[in-house]
Amino acid sequence: MASPITIFKNDELLFEATNIQEAARYLADHLNTTKSKYYDPIERGYVYSIPYYDKEDKYLFVASEEIATIRRKQLEERGHENARRVWLVPANPKEYDLASAFSHYDIIDWKRSYNYENGDILFIYVSGNVQRVRYKVEVIEGLVRTNNIAYNATFWKDEEKLEQSKTWDWTRIRLIDEIDTTDLSLAKLREHGVKGNIQGSMKLTGQLRDYIMSFFESDLTQGYYPDEVSETLEEGKRKTIRVNVYERNPIARKQCMAHYGVQCQVCGLNFEDTYGEVGKDFIHVHHIVPLHEIQQDYIVDPIQDLIPVCPNCHAMLHRKENGVYLSIEQLRQRVVNTI
Ligand SMILES: [Zn+2]
Ligand SMILES: [Zn+2]
Repeated sequence: MASPITIFKNDELLFEATNIQEAARYLADHLNTTKSKYYDPIERGYVYSIPYYDKEDKYLFVASEEIATIRRKQLEERGHENARRVWLVPANPKEYDLASAFSHYDIIDWKRSYNYENGDILFIYVSGNVQRVRYKVEVIEGLVRTNNIAYNATFWKDEEKLEQSKTWDWTRIRLIDEIDTTDLSLAKLREHGVKGNIQGSMKLTGQLRDYIMSFFESDLTQGYYPDEVSETLEEGKRKTIRVNVYERNPIARKQCMAHYGVQCQVCGLNFEDTYGEVGKDFIHVHHIVPLHEIQQDYIVDPIQDLIPVCPNCHAMLHRKENGVYLSIEQLRQRVVNTI
């Protein structure tokens, strides 16, 4: 199947290829090298928005959202072999309260101790008295400069570190899944190939990588939310987050769905019943508390504050009628009246 890939050089259109072979051939001619060199960069480029650099020049590869999504899915099924790099990254809970940060945000900024790139997967090992791999995150922006970081001092335990951190480079990460199991304790990791303590980031490969990966969901939220249901957090909170983070938080979602199930709580739609296998486990989660009412120390209650709804009902919950949002109950009433 033809998959049109557009190549940009320094943000200007360079070439439109009908498929990856053609794109690679064009680049090889353009840069006077061999074509096989470019398959990986092109693929990483259009699937994960990773630029490719040749000397001072920046190349971008862009495919349609649909093609990128399909390819991303295929790569996800194969564990992103060759496409994504996977890291084991230690986190010290005495310096930064990651658990609390992730209960507020699904996107946070993290120290860039290696040259992480968009699409890399990090498994975060929490040291101190936790000593387990607890989080799977995806790098969504490899390099974020210090002046674009919104510091949230509440999560920092160590003020000296917080001060130091103002000179670091950062990486923006998105939480994919969280787990708490003794199978991912330091002792178990050692049985699967970790030597000594986990003190710095290490690239994961082979059996250890597969072992850790097997405990986590591949991706719980990617592609679930259309832009129409986005909300902007008010001034003073992190600028980078444009969707209601509570609705995307994988931890809160999991707990909400465990309580209510995956049926729309307004109209009763169950995606798997209606659409079959493709609808399995699909549902939006709506955050009931209006964002402007949220205080700095708010922690989402997955059962009181969140509710599973289908995208149609979800969209209606985010629209206003005569300036006010309809409640779940009001909406339910209207659905009942039309059946
Ligand atoms: Zn519904
Ligand atoms: Zn919502």
